[in-house]
Amino acid sequence: MLEDRFDVIVIGGGPAGAVAAAELARTGYSVLVVEKDHYPRFHIGESLIPGVVAVLEELGVGEAIHGEGFVRKYAAEFVTPDCAFRQRYVFSDSLTPRHHLAYQVERARFDQILLDHARSLGAVVRVGAEVTHFDEEPDAIVCAVREGEGDERRVSSRFLIDASGQHSFIARRLGLRQLDLGLRNVAVYAHFTGAVPIGGDQAGDITVVLDPEGWWWVIPLREVVSLGFVAPKAAFAGKPDTAWMLRRMRELPVLAQRFGPAELAGPARVAADYSYGSRRLVGARWLLAGDAAAFLDPVFSTGVYLGVSSGVKAAEAVAGALTGNQPSAALLSAYAAWFEQKVRVYGELVRGFYRPEFTDLFMHPTSAMQLRQAVTSALAGFAEEPEVRRRLKTFLSAARANRDQVLSPRLPGRREAAARLQRGSATRK
Ligand SMILES: Cc1cc2nc3c(=O)[nH]c(=O)nc-3n(C[C@H](O)[C@H](O)[C@H](O)COP(=O)(O)OP(=O)(O)OC[C@H]3O[C@@H](n4cnc5c(N)ncnc54)[C@H](O)[C@@H]3O)c2cc1C
Repeated sequence: MLEDRFDVIVIGGGPAGAVAAAELARTGYSVLVVEKDHYPRFHIGESLIPGVVAVLEELGVGEAIHGEGFVRKYAAEFVTPDCAFRQRYVFSDSLTPRHHLAYQVERARFDQILLDHARSLGAVVRVGAEVTHFDEEPDAIVCAVREGEGDERRVSSRFLIDASGQHSFIARRLGLRQLDLGLRNVAVYAHFTGAVPIGGDQAGDITVVLDPEGWWWVIPLREVVSLGFVAPKAAFAGKPDTAWMLRRMRELPVLAQRFGPAELAGPARVAADYSYGSRRLVGARWLLAGDAAAFLDPVFSTGVYLGVSSGVKAAEAVAGALTGNQPSAALLSAYAAWFEQKVRVYGELVRGFYRPEFTDLFMHPTSAMQLRQAVTSALAGFAEEPEVRRRLKTFLSAARANRDQVLSPRLPGRREAAARLQRGSATRK
């Protein structure tokens, strides 16, 4: 039987919720995690960056992750479809080389490890249970929780963390959600067996293929390879389904070669309009963490990183607010400012990726002033280290200047495609 009072209720048992719950339970608070799916469950978001590993090591769950046997990822490779331009950002060659390892993970297993960790520290975890409603009262938050086919129960807490992912439970209910109109992309993705493997220490790289109209991810997992295509809506002349994806994939030499002998391991899935923010990230007794707060296009694999790092920060803010030693409003607005800053820094990079002048430079980074190393650190999840930030600013200025001056070789077809897509989206409006 579910108790009816906790210090903290966490909506969602994904990476953000599991980490926040684990940290609060470790501190001694009573925590309830309500997760509507039954675990293990499929989730997209399979390519981690070293920043995730660094956070998880600090939380004491590093050993479980290292010992699982996930595919080891040492670099992110970017390549044009004809392989004429190739750039491999190796995490050890960065301004933060200590963090040089990440993993490609089956999220069903990865998320289970994190949720088990929260449970082992004392969090009460209810899977197959859904928060359907919440009320803010002066001294408490009251949630309606439905378990399976059963009746709804009212459960109260002193604090609520919304880590409900793209469902954005609170932001949708309070009308706070704002689509990122500059990143109205569609993703179509599937798993394949039998793709041609890459050897050596590049075997676990994520490969990002720069299709003129968007980009593809190739993520090697233990049993399958995950392939996905992301592009603005205007790039999809037809319905983005399995047939569309296979047809387009076969037109690109680098993918045709790698996936020539491959077979689909399941139907393609589609996600659309998944980049958004929230007008507010905190209330008097609640805060948003991970995707429930904001989501950036996945080109730099930052989602799980923002999830786990905001989970830790959220737990710190809530623990501080619960002790009552500091005004909770100040703690919560500091949390919101921290989150907004992270999204701003990575948002600038992600938006840049959709502009030819940025991508041209990104594919020809200079080591002068250690700009290449700074970009690598950002890709690893350390964009906010002061040394990295300073150099990233220089890199971004150079990318802007690269529009009118030719500071780097041009990738073929991208400017024409960008103009074509802009015309396409203008006629569709
Ligand atoms: C196409 C695409 C590709 C991506 N690729 C990558 C990648 O390669 N690398 C990367 O790092 N990230 C990637 N991401 C992002 C990544 O999937 C997310 O950022 C990450 O899962 C966020 O974690 P979270 O804990 O905030 O949310 P989630 O992992 O989504 O967890 C939220 C949980 O809340 C539960 N929930 C929702 N509503 C309720 C409710 N009312 N009651 C109870 N439970 C509820 C859900 O069932 C879910 O389990 C990608 C995203 C997309 C769309």
